[in-house]
Amino acid sequence: MQHYPVFLNTRAARIVLSGGADAAIAKLRLLLKTEADLAVFAPEAAPEILAWAEAGALTLHRRALRLDDLAGAALVYAADEDAAQDSATAALAERAKVLLNIVDNLEASDFITPAIVDRDPVTIAIGTEGAAPVLARQIKADLEARLPAALGLLARIGKAFRPAAESLPVGRARRAFWSDYYTKTGPASLSAGETATKAALKALLAQHRAQAPSEGHVIFAGAGPGDPELLTLKARRALHEADVVIYDRLVSPAILELARREALMLSAGKEGFGASMTQADINALIVAQAGAGAQVVRLKGGDPAVFARLDEEIEACEAHNIAFSIIPGITAASASAAALGQSLTKRGRNTEARLVTGHDMQGYADHDWKSLARPGEVAAIYMGKRAARYIQGRLLMHGAAPNTPVSLVENASLPNQRILATTLAELPAALEAAALSGPALTLLGLAPRNTAAAAPARPQEIAL
Ligand code: SAH
Repeated sequence: MQHYPVFLNTRAARIVLSGGADAAIAKLRLLLKTEADLAVFAPEAAPEILAWAEAGALTLHRRALRLDDLAGAALVYAADEDAAQDSATAALAERAKVLLNIVDNLEASDFITPAIVDRDPVTIAIGTEGAAPVLARQIKADLEARLPAALGLLARIGKAFRPAAESLPVGRARRAFWSDYYTKTGPASLSAGETATKAALKALLAQHRAQAPSEGHVIFAGAGPGDPELLTLKARRALHEADVVIYDRLVSPAILELARREALMLSAGKEGFGASMTQADINALIVAQAGAGAQVVRLKGGDPAVFARLDEEIEACEAHNIAFSIIPGITAASASAAALGQSLTKRGRNTEARLVTGHDMQGYADHDWKSLARPGEVAAIYMGKRAARYIQGRLLMHGAAPNTPVSLVENASLPNQRILATTLAELPAALEAAALSGPALTLLGLAPRNTAAAAPARPQEIAL
């Protein structure tokens, strides 16, 4: 984001414009909607500008801009449509340290004016950093068509009612009230006039105040393997409605972006090894937030029910009578198999596929190793990088073929996804050479299918 959007308070601000023809008129039409003190400098001005000056909407100076004209100005527009005159304005702006816009010259401007959908006090600004003005216009047209013309009026009535609404508790209760107003009560009552809307708003508040305070609730939601498009619609909605999001380190920033801006975002900072927050701390955090009445989304990478210590967190909720629900997610094994172009089970090859954790394979019994070592077996080994040498040793000892295919998928589903295709015999050496640094899933018994055809275009592939 090269251009950062802000809304400038124009009350008592001085905005200066140099120019008196078409470009100046276009900018002034918008500027006249603000509360700014507008000063226009133009030796010759078009009739519209003269009329605005006469009506007292702006001050017209029939001469070129000078340095002292910029004293105290918040913004200056160079709108002469003449390169020499515009660069003279630019030079003055630089000396006076006033933010400058040169009409139709993005590169030389300090700020740009976005496309605007105006439902004052609701204002939507659309910018494309100059990349696609046509797209900005299209979005503007779509929004103009979608937003009721009365939205501004609804918002003005709502704004005046804000102090009264503060009698509702902060957070969910207050949000639910406003959401009812803007989506139901407000639009429905508006046709009967402004007074009816104000009365309806009062009645709505009374109704909401009578409701019992909301109970906290925890949703254990799967964030999927990383690609935001692999999030379920349900998880997306839960994120959008959450008061508090407690997320694991593996959850990608693009997914966290989907949470409400006002949501409290808490990192549980847990890593596969060396947790920075203990499980007991995380349980306590969930219970404390939900206990205070918050709608908590406990967001976990992949599926919350796969190697994610879900039961411990559920038990903590149960111990405190906190209601919970689970939204499943796409687990790393599914995303990694997809990256290989393979299925986890296949007729005639394997009738079962196992999800295994490399974290405590040391406790695996002999018969487990024996069955994993059988030809055609498929296992998805989570957290398996560190244990690779140990796993290899055990499998070979229990008769696995050295040329058994093993694939590691790092950052499955993300743009930096890498696939390491190797064999059981080569596994430790291949892993060392590849120096994978992201989360990686080991797929025992699977090789990438005809790699060129199956692999997506972006991710890199390394065959060792
Ligand atoms: N609940 C998660 C697993 C958590 S255990 C799930 O269902 O996917 C953490 C391990 O998952 C990592 O060590 C890695 O082995 C695997 N993993 C998670 N995200 C991954 C990804 N995007 N690509 C590859 N492996 C991943």
